[in-house]
Amino acid sequence: MDSEQIDAVVIGGGVIGLSVGRALARAGHEVLVLERHAHPGEETSARNSEVIHAGIYYSPGSLKAELCREGRDRLYDYCERHGVAYSRCGKWLVAVSEDKIPALEQLRCNAANNDVTLNWLGAWERQKEPALKAAAALESPMSGIVDSHAYMQALLGDLEAHGGWLVRRAPVERIESVQGRHWIQVGGDVPCELSAGIVVNAGGLGAVALARRWQGLAPEAIPSQWFSKGHYFAYNGRHPFQRLIYPLPGAGGLGVHLTLDMAGQARFGPDAHWVEALETAVPESLAPSFVSAVQQWWPTLDPARLTPAYAGIRPRIHGPGDAPADFIIQGPEEHGLAGAVNLFGIESPGLTASLPLADRVVNCLI
Ligand SMILES: Cc1cc2nc3c(=O)[nH]c(=O)nc-3n(C[C@H](O)[C@H](O)[C@H](O)COP(=O)(O)OP(=O)(O)OC[C@H]3O[C@@H](n4cnc5c(N)ncnc54)[C@H](O)[C@@H]3O)c2cc1C
Repeated sequence: MDSEQIDAVVIGGGVIGLSVGRALARAGHEVLVLERHAHPGEETSARNSEVIHAGIYYSPGSLKAELCREGRDRLYDYCERHGVAYSRCGKWLVAVSEDKIPALEQLRCNAANNDVTLNWLGAWERQKEPALKAAAALESPMSGIVDSHAYMQALLGDLEAHGGWLVRRAPVERIESVQGRHWIQVGGDVPCELSAGIVVNAGGLGAVALARRWQGLAPEAIPSQWFSKGHYFAYNGRHPFQRLIYPLPGAGGLGVHLTLDMAGQARFGPDAHWVEALETAVPESLAPSFVSAVQQWWPTLDPARLTPAYAGIRPRIHGPGDAPADFIIQGPEEHGLAGAVNLFGIESPGLTASLPLADRVVNCLI
């Protein structure tokens, strides 16, 4: 089979692959983004809270903290300039009882170390959300929401405007790297081989599996992977909230929170369950645990209005009981292969961080 020569190939058409493809195309490269599904952004990028995170939770100095803070500002600006729907609606973090207030204060200190300001809300200010039951609350004015699908469409438009292409139904089966060139075997309806000087593995949930099929990449460079599933329930009908409401983070996630879509509809989630299989069903049987989690801060929630919505899976590189891992942007300096980058563990806040994360990828290829 003759191989088609191309400057740069990005594997994965989620928000990260599209953002990296766009950044490479803007830097003057001829780019193909290869996506195994018929449409871009059908996996994790379509199954999240669509929250523009302020940068509250992450360890100061970590990639998550830095890229979230920068990404948040750049994402608001990008949405404004490209007509992508967003709202800087703000979010409240709540302590449901007095004994949780020290943990809220700790969160405020961590946020301050990340240069993110959280404001204590007095009892009278908390009246702006009269349905909320809280012993104390912090306001995060920089948090917001974005229409993630519209954002990905805008990234794709930008990629194409700079001469790049998204190739759909193009599953990458294996890669072989020899002397600074990468041979990429693409399966699907029209199997082919591509040869590229630059290859970026932005395969999300499939990134580790793809790295294992990469001849020339040292096995020690490939992290272990775990999956953590988060379910969402939709709330049918009207609800009383104006902004996002988050409890304190729990084991494995940020806690079952209230997020809003651009139409103001409420969803609750995600919870966190370690799973082996990449399946996204939402069992009705989880409803009682959602009701009890939400009723801690919204006692008048009507349980009959909750319906299973969707689930997303976090591509984790830390397992149960481990400290949360940082994003891994693994370039030639780390694995020794010129022109190659692996992205591992791009869970939350990957959507928020997507623009500066893409720039980091381009920078480590210079
Ligand atoms: C429950 C949940 C809630 C979240 N909430 C938020 C939030 O509110 N705010 C925020 O900032 N972030 C959030 N995130 C994180 C955010 O959704 C992700 O970081 C982001 O979507 C990751 O994008 P991605 O492109 O890396 O992955 P994906 O969207 O999964 O894209 C990877 C793509 O690669 C393709 N692919 C994989 N292997 C191959 C192959 N071999 N060949 C071709 N194509 C391949 C897949 O089909 C897929 O389309 C959340 C995540 C989860 C799971």
